Amino acid sequence: MRASAELAARHGVRLHTHLAETADEDRFCQEMHGCRPLDYLEQCGWLHDKVWLAHGVHFDFGEMARLANAGVSVTHCPCSNQILASGHCPVCDLEQAGVRVGLGVDGSASNNASNLMQEVRAAFLLQRGRYGVERVSHRDALRWATTGSAACIGRPELGVIAPGAQADLALFRLDELRFSGALDPLAALVLCGAHRADRVMVGGRWVVEDATIPNLDLSALMRRHRVAARSLTA
Ligand SMILES: [Zn+2]
Repeated sequence: MRASAELAARHGVRLHTHLAETADEDRFCQEMHGCRPLDYLEQCGWLHDKVWLAHGVHFDFGEMARLANAGVSVTHCPCSNQILASGHCPVCDLEQAGVRVGLGVDGSASNNASNLMQEVRAAFLLQRGRYGVERVSHRDALRWATTGSAACIGRPELGVIAPGAQADLALFRLDELRFSGALDPLAALVLCGAHRADRVMVGGRWVVEDATIPNLDLSALMRRHRVAARSLTA
């Protein structure tokens, strides 16, 4: 951990790890290092504004203030946290303390879908259930996924549609049965569950068209994937 912090400082790049995810992690850190995970992180030179952390489920209020003062941001991974029964990230408390919060999928070991729009819906449901109707709207969940996540990785030119921002777009069709009768298109995407973009542009280049990736042999890719997955369990 210390060596990677030094390496990142030398190259002027950011640092990322997954922290405060499970109660078991708190116990392990206490037994191994005699402190809580955030204390250990600080001892290793990881408590500054070039750091963003996945999860942040088990931070207490004092730790949230330390994160905010240091400029560390947190990525909420709602599906993974529920699959593993890790707990619920206190997103509104983190934001109230001044911590920037983004949205992520975690890794494929604990998120079988890795679909950010599904995370938006899961974050909306989970956080609204925790904090209530007044504090969490579908727009908050979309904000975590866009400008929130861009802030986590220190890229303010991402997550917005504006002059000078990077030309990233995800376009969804709303004429599917799941959206029928919806009046607010953004609420429909979150509440009815948009699962698949019709078009995606990254840096001004279309990478998804008509809900498919052009020039990709999908069946060959899935064959390779099945073989690789089987080799991991053999
Ligand atoms: Zn993780």
